[in-house]
Amino acid sequence: MEEITEILKELVSYQTVASRNDELERVIERCCEWLNVKGICQYRYASGDKPSLIAVQTVKWEEEKKRSIFFVGHLDVVDAEPEQFHPRIEGNKLWGRGALDMKGPCAVMIHLFRTLAQEGKNSRLGLMLTTDEEIGSANGVEYLLKQEGWGAHFALIPDGGYDFHTVLAEKGAIHFRVKAKGKAAHGSRTWEGKNAIEHIMEFYYALKKEFPAEPCSDAQHWHPTLNLGKFLGGKKVNIVPDEAEAEFDIRFPDPLTFDQMKDKIENLLNSFPGLNWEILTRAEVVIAQPENTYVQKYRKAVEKVTGKTPEILKEHGATDARFFAELGIPILITYPIGGGIHTREEWVDLPALFTLYQIFREFLNEVAT
Ligand SMILES: [Zn+2]
Repeated sequence: MEEITEILKELVSYQTVASRNDELERVIERCCEWLNVKGICQYRYASGDKPSLIAVQTVKWEEEKKRSIFFVGHLDVVDAEPEQFHPRIEGNKLWGRGALDMKGPCAVMIHLFRTLAQEGKNSRLGLMLTTDEEIGSANGVEYLLKQEGWGAHFALIPDGGYDFHTVLAEKGAIHFRVKAKGKAAHGSRTWEGKNAIEHIMEFYYALKKEFPAEPCSDAQHWHPTLNLGKFLGGKKVNIVPDEAEAEFDIRFPDPLTFDQMKDKIENLLNSFPGLNWEILTRAEVVIAQPENTYVQKYRKAVEKVTGKTPEILKEHGATDARFFAELGIPILITYPIGGGIHTREEWVDLPALFTLYQIFREFLNEVAT
């Protein structure tokens, strides 16, 4: 457990926010040192100034990749107060930015790969460490899978859920911006203008009708949702605004698809001439595969180590799992015990990180037999 704690303390001390490419470089450099063990082959990448590292247990990855498992982690974090980069331990808890999301799980995976290599074990494993997950993964997991051609038979992503439960499904997402052009006029002569803000609001209320109203009857809220997250428009109280723009965030569960949601928006926009739109983010749904052999073996390992049957969870937010799912690679997302991600009070339970390590080992034993 000490080694995991030591790795984690050091990982937290790097200020790996999106604006600090130098720190992202440094943390990847340090991971290369940790993973510089006989039996591990390293591949380093830099796309759009975002470094990443792939460590694999075998050099014959191309031949092996259909039978392999990827462990996936990101070392970047969301912005934080300066003191959050000084990890603080109180009892069993370690406080600091990224403790749970997800430097804690990364410390476990780094320790796991080091230990397996030192023991001379080769289970056809890959470790993917990236530095741009919090800003969309275009230069991280998406780049490594789509541009560099990495792949696997199964991906384990300890970046969601809680208390060792297993997340197998995720909602998809579509973020988009709508712009309206109107006609300016004096606020006292509204009939001479065309109000761009009102135009977007009318579209918004029409779109909103397509989504269930809250409170709804589904306690899991496993239904599509719409958020109007950003709105810009208007210059002065007595001017009819001639420009406005808004950004929307739609989440949708299986069996809906990205294209279906896109068509829905496009069809509605057709009845609002004068509005233009552009898509900012696309994420397909991740469909649960509880019958998958790896999933079943993993869940059995959790049960064996913790003595509890893990629940199967669904995630409302998107993780890097979506890029694997797009390639048809089954995934499993999990978390140790912790809390406060993206807040000032982020923490992880240190014994739980060791439990996660034991679960991974148990799982790998199961897979090997
Ligand atoms: Zn609901």
